[in-house]
Amino acid sequence: MDVSDLIDPLNEAQREAVCAPAGNLLVLAGAGSGKTRVLTHRIAWLIRTEGVSPFGILAVTFTNKAAREMRGRIESLLQMPAGGMWVGTFHGIAHRLLRQHWREADLPQSFQILDSDDQYRMVRRVLRELQLDETNWPPRQAQWFINGRKDEGLRPEHVDPQGNPVQMQLVRIYQAYEQACQRGGVVDFAELLLRAHELWRDRPDLLAHYRERFRHILVDEFQDTNAIQYAWIRLLAGDSGQVFVVGDDDQSIYGWRGARVENIHQFRRDFPNVKLIRLEQNYRSTGTILSAANGIIAHNADRLGKELWTAGEKGDPVRIYGAFNEIEEARFVVDRIRTWNREGGARSEVAILYRSNAQSRVLEEALMQAAVPYRVYGGLRFFDRAEIKDALAYLRLIVNRGDDPSFERVVNTPTRGIGDRTVQAIREHAAAHQQPLWQAAMEVAEGTGLPARARNAVRAFLELVERLAEETEMLELHDTFEHAVTRSGLIEHCKKEKGERGQARIENLEELVNAARQFEFDEEQHEGMSALSAFLAHAALEAGEGQADEWEDSVQLMTLHSAKGLEFPLVFVCGMEEGLFPHRMSVEEPGRLEEERRLCYVGMTRAMRQLYLTYAEVRRLYGKENYTRPSRFLRELPPEFVEEIRLRGMGAAMPSPSRRAEPTETADGLGLGQRVTHRKFGEGVILALEGQGAQARVQVAFDDVGTKWLVLSYANLEAV
Ligand code: ATP
Ligand code: MG
Repeated sequence: MDVSDLIDPLNEAQREAVCAPAGNLLVLAGAGSGKTRVLTHRIAWLIRTEGVSPFGILAVTFTNKAAREMRGRIESLLQMPAGGMWVGTFHGIAHRLLRQHWREADLPQSFQILDSDDQYRMVRRVLRELQLDETNWPPRQAQWFINGRKDEGLRPEHVDPQGNPVQMQLVRIYQAYEQACQRGGVVDFAELLLRAHELWRDRPDLLAHYRERFRHILVDEFQDTNAIQYAWIRLLAGDSGQVFVVGDDDQSIYGWRGARVENIHQFRRDFPNVKLIRLEQNYRSTGTILSAANGIIAHNADRLGKELWTAGEKGDPVRIYGAFNEIEEARFVVDRIRTWNREGGARSEVAILYRSNAQSRVLEEALMQAAVPYRVYGGLRFFDRAEIKDALAYLRLIVNRGDDPSFERVVNTPTRGIGDRTVQAIREHAAAHQQPLWQAAMEVAEGTGLPARARNAVRAFLELVERLAEETEMLELHDTFEHAVTRSGLIEHCKKEKGERGQARIENLEELVNAARQFEFDEEQHEGMSALSAFLAHAALEAGEGQADEWEDSVQLMTLHSAKGLEFPLVFVCGMEEGLFPHRMSVEEPGRLEEERRLCYVGMTRAMRQLYLTYAEVRRLYGKENYTRPSRFLRELPPEFVEEIRLRGMGAAMPSPSRRAEPTETADGLGLGQRVTHRKFGEGVILALEGQGAQARVQVAFDDVGTKWLVLSYANLEAV
């Protein structure tokens, strides 16, 4: 059999891993050394030369996107579809299992997934039920506690509060939350994993079936598995499964969320005869980028220690740019992207990475102003937008009336005269009778506790949902959506919101109908569920990965965390400032600081050809303006691989506006110190001017809204 296409594109060490004899194997290697490639080729190798059926393979990736890409690559290597193979994230795979065995898992057939926003609402509701005050018991903290315990595999009864009253109360909240979820037939993300684990643990017959089936288990990004994921793999593998994991301790960046890099060591202890293979050649980055990244990560103690080298070119230096403020930083980035684009580079080859999601807004605005198409990967994504969540809530209620978070979301959206007091009465009734809100609402509507008007309004809502369910029963998915967004009154509701915002919402709802239409064609995703249930699960699982406009050549924006595993010819890491990156929460704890440093390493090693690290001397974030200091990571860079960019009249060389070598008067005769008025922002005084013609910008300190940079030609300033 000719296997040259499988092994020729591999180096010696990679080949050894791909062709290793049956058994457990750990590939431990740095960024860009081909771990993911090895894993992909291994699967193709197993199917083609070892005669393993695709049905016998389970592969875990870190994102759904990575899963799709991996399946695609395997199928192209094999030149045939590999249907029966399971490739997905831990969450996706757990979800699939629970769908197939909902009965055994003690779930309703139409159970729904709670995303973290839904979960937050649910926690708040539970706090109200328990009559706990949110100032003493912040819902976020309770949510954090619950997820943390679930990630460790602990149910409330397993948590030992050690006599600590705060812990005891948190355990009670966890317990009440769990009951509320069970009543409503909803599961959060952590629950998917925990329940999938319990399913196998408690059902030896099922476990035996899956052990028989999945003899080959492969896991990418193994350094970021948490306790429950590890336990789950162990359970599945049993004594005879073959486990192939790849990872890099230097890229462990989810410790804060329960990931345990120790799993790498644990793996070698728990599994018999683990073969260890190291890969040392990097194929992704230029020599300079690689050396700079190596220089940073060398500051961490406690590393397993790996050296990476590349046969590639040395390339350009890593460029550092200190901007005057965050707006100018964004403008700098956009300028460079346009140059890249003009010189023939595609926009999709560019990634802008940042530590905190909130940083994206300013970058997005700069890109929009310059009409550069972009996509935000993670962050505020399509499925997270309010109007989309409203529409999905109606659909979720159609599938499952017991879905309390959805009930709460739309019971009075659009407004239909169901006030807080009525909702509160329904909640109390539900709590008293341990029933879903839907059931409680029916009883409240028939009772006498509320004024007739309120009861009628509740009844109208219940009837609306029942009617939607009936009317859409026989419809195609996209017609169902169309019908639901119209008949629910959501479209009308958005129309009332004036201006572009309302319009954008309507467009989003229309896009949702489109998404449903596309989904109809993709039957593989339905996995035996109704198309609607399948779509809702897909929306919940994919929300974090935003897929809008995939066909358009666009710049990619994402947090450093979500950039893991990806690569781009041109990368910007923005906001290299103390307190932002490393994040202020981390600087006091050495362990967390090292995790931030690994994050920096992950970010830098995404770059193939060019890498920019930028910071702003003044940054307005979360509504506060701060003078910043450049990140310590910049100082840790070996200077021989770095070049600082200084632009005339901008940035680091010009820390204060008064020192700018810029015009002192605009074409319209507005000068520094001039008082002006702006239609929206009111009155203010001009602090700085820069650029000429269409590029001209002006900085104004407004009396009410603070200091802003404006594009002069759009600002329509008038002298006062
Ligand atoms: P990360 O740690 O960032 O996840 P990785 O170790 O998984 O990285 P890959 O993404 O598999 O690395 O590979 C990095 C790049 O190098 C990819 O573009 C891949 O196609 C390429 N590559 C890997 N091995 C080889 C090889 N032997 N010859 C040529 N290119 C290779
Ligand atoms: Mg990888």
